[in-house]
Order: sequence, then C-alpha cells, then structure tokens
Amino acid sequence: MIKPHLLTCLLILLLFTPLTQSCTKNPNPAAQSLKSSTDSVKNGVNRNSTEDSINNSIKSKEPAPKDSAEKAKFLEDELASMVTLKLITQKQSNGLRNILETVEVEHITSPGVRVKNLLIVHKIVAPDIVNIFKEMADSGFIIEKIEPMSKYQWNDRKSMAANNTSAFNYRLVAGTKSISRHANGLALDINPLWNPYVSGKYVSPPGAIYDIKKPGTIHKDSPAYKIFLKHGWKWGGSWTPYKDYQHFFYEVIPVKRF
Ligand SMILES: [Zn+2]
Repeated sequence: MIKPHLLTCLLILLLFTPLTQSCTKNPNPAAQSLKSSTDSVKNGVNRNSTEDSINNSIKSKEPAPKDSAEKAKFLEDELASMVTLKLITQKQSNGLRNILETVEVEHITSPGVRVKNLLIVHKIVAPDIVNIFKEMADSGFIIEKIEPMSKYQWNDRKSMAANNTSAFNYRLVAGTKSISRHANGLALDINPLWNPYVSGKYVSPPGAIYDIKKPGTIHKDSPAYKIFLKHGWKWGGSWTPYKDYQHFFYEVIPVKRF
C-alpha cells in the first residue's frame, strides 16, 4: 500500500518542478534583456545618457573660447576705434599693440550666471588677470558688466556710469596731466558705479553710493580685495585722503608713454 503512494508523490514532484523553475528564472532571453533594461532605467543606470545629452545641449549653447586670432582682432579693432576718434595716433597705436593683449575672463553677472568676456591688459599681467577673474567668479563675487570701451567712445565717465568694468584706456589720471596706469593696461576699474571714486563730497560717477552691504562692492573683507592683493596688486580704496574704490593697479613696472 505504501509503494504506490510514494510513486504518486514522485510523479507530482516531477510534474511541478519545471513549472516552478520557469516562473522564477524566466529562461526567455528576450524577456530577460527587456527586464534588465527596465531595471537599469529604474535604478538610474541609463540616466547617464540622458544627463550627457542635457550636458551636451548646455555645452553647445555655451560660446566656444575665443582663439588667439579673435583676441588679436579685438585688440586691433579697439585700438582702431581710438585712432578714429583721434584719441591716439596710428604711431601710438602701433606702440601700444606691442605691450597689450586681449584676455578672455570669466565673471558672475548675477547669482548663478557665469559668462566670459574680453578685456585688454598689459601682456605682463595677462595670465594673472585670467586667474584673478576665475578666482573671483569661483568666490561668487559679482561683476555686472564687461563691455568694450569703444562702446562708450572710450569715455570713462560714461563707462563708469554704466557700471562697466574696464582695464586699458590710453588716458591721463582724471583731472591731472599724469599718465594713468590704465594707459598701459596695468589698472582695472571693477563695478565703478558700486565702487566710486570719493574725495570729500565729490563722488565719481555722479550719484554713485558706496554701500559695502551690496554684492559686488570692494572692501577689505570682499573676495575681490583679497584675490587682487594675493596676486601682488594694490587697491585705490587704501589711499588717503581720497578713495578710488573701483581701482586695482599693478605697480611692479613703470608706465610707458607712447
Ligand atoms: Zn582706475
């Protein structure tokens, strides 16, 4: 009586074993690959390709870095505009071309917005200026605007009133007969409307208010001050009795007249 019962049990086991396996292991390769691709999407494995395509679309919108020919042309065009406006002669332009260089610098125009623009500086400080601006951008220090001085007909008052950050301008120190360090690209004016020149009650640009609580202002705790000084530059805000809060200058080499 026991033997037939055992046989029945064995038969039942043999019948059910393959069914159980097929349910758990899913031997169908196509179904298996579909499942793993769904799993990888769920697990975020395929997200990389999506992120890559998003990153690529951001990268493609970002302008390509300016090459040396574009930078040289910018310098030529800017000097030519000074000649056209009779601010310098062609001979002076030829001399200035030999000491000046266009640099492409990064800056933050408002929180989270990082852009690149061109500045004309002395060749000797060019690599330094690129690093200084990168460090300022990394610190989050805001520089509202860097536009060519030709847009303002090289008029420093107009440029300052527009809060335009600038470097080279072949000009005298305002109100004097001394040649400015700007004339050799050895000085920069940063956010001039927020960091005016102040002498007693005289403020330039007119109506500017120096309020160090505002972003983009320069004071001894600001990133701009710390970074420029670390690179061996000096600050016009340290002068007495008048203050030129926008002005950083490099005094290691003398200014040359052309
Ligand atoms: Zn200046």
